[in-house]
Amino acid sequence: MNRLNRIKDNLQNKTLTLPDGTNLPVLGQGTWKMGEHPGKKAAEIKGLQTGLDLGMKVIDTAEMYGDGLSERLVGEAIKGHREETFLVSKVYPHHAISGKMQQACEGSLKRLKTDYLDLYLLHWRGGNLRETVEEMENLKSSGKILRWGVSNFDTVDMQELIRLKGGQNCTVNQVLYHLGSRGIEYDLLPWQRAAGMPIMAYSPLGQGGSLMNMLTKHPIIHDIALKHHVKPLQIALAWTIRTDDVLAIPKGTSYEHIIENAEASTIELSESDIRQINSIFPEPTKKMPLDII
Ligand code: NAP
Repeated sequence: MNRLNRIKDNLQNKTLTLPDGTNLPVLGQGTWKMGEHPGKKAAEIKGLQTGLDLGMKVIDTAEMYGDGLSERLVGEAIKGHREETFLVSKVYPHHAISGKMQQACEGSLKRLKTDYLDLYLLHWRGGNLRETVEEMENLKSSGKILRWGVSNFDTVDMQELIRLKGGQNCTVNQVLYHLGSRGIEYDLLPWQRAAGMPIMAYSPLGQGGSLMNMLTKHPIIHDIALKHHVKPLQIALAWTIRTDDVLAIPKGTSYEHIIENAEASTIELSESDIRQINSIFPEPTKKMPLDII
């Protein structure tokens, strides 16, 4: 089997289950900062389509990204591929209130050139949470969104949310999670596990910044990568999706980055790999404030 078919095959089988029973591959695609530079648009569209072709069907965007430019680019990329895409967008907190949210959602749908979102997220806490839940439920009833969730919610926020009428219908919480930011493992991740609500991990590559440099240089990560015949950053991504209840949404533009990211689903980290990784990026031993970008 060639490399691309092996990746496709793996991603099809490496899935998590949403509370409503929908199965999704544990790797999707981020789009923050896409669509903002005309010279990069063609590569970004091709990249997203390559990812879709490999099975990274979850595409994450937001009305905030480039003031709608990311949604417009995604709309172009998924033209003719809507049914194979699991489309996620996010609403600003100041739009997530009565009288404003329906219009915000319609704006996203228009830019994305679709008539429904698979998942609509509150981008971060703000406004009136009870109204947000009511509006999410109204949008669901009208068929404009199929599910809803939240982003950047810490454990206390989740506890408050599920006490609200309809709050139990929250599908996911999208939060920052990567090797260098493990705070959610202390209480949020266990809480979500117990509630049967998956985590969507954003910036799983640490935005390609200092984490990437540290990883590439660290001899332990380097050796684990050598053993698996992959690159250090792929080890970081494979680590993020090592359980079956975290879905990561790396953003890649270049063809090779997208293939490498999808390929991370084929890496099975051993217990000894995990132990070695823990020795350099330790698990949290106390409550940490939620990391947010
Ligand atoms: P990220 O996915 O952690 O990192 C993206 C960076 O890594 C880009 O510079 C990318 O370069 C580079 N990269 C990707 N694959 C690579 C590879 N295989 N090897 C080397 N470099 C690679 O950062 P992110 O974009 O912040 O996070 C991912 C997505 O999460 C966002 O795009 C967005 O959809 C979502 N997000 C949500 C929130 C929220 O508040 N809910 C916040 C932040 C992000 P190229 O582009 O050149 O390939």
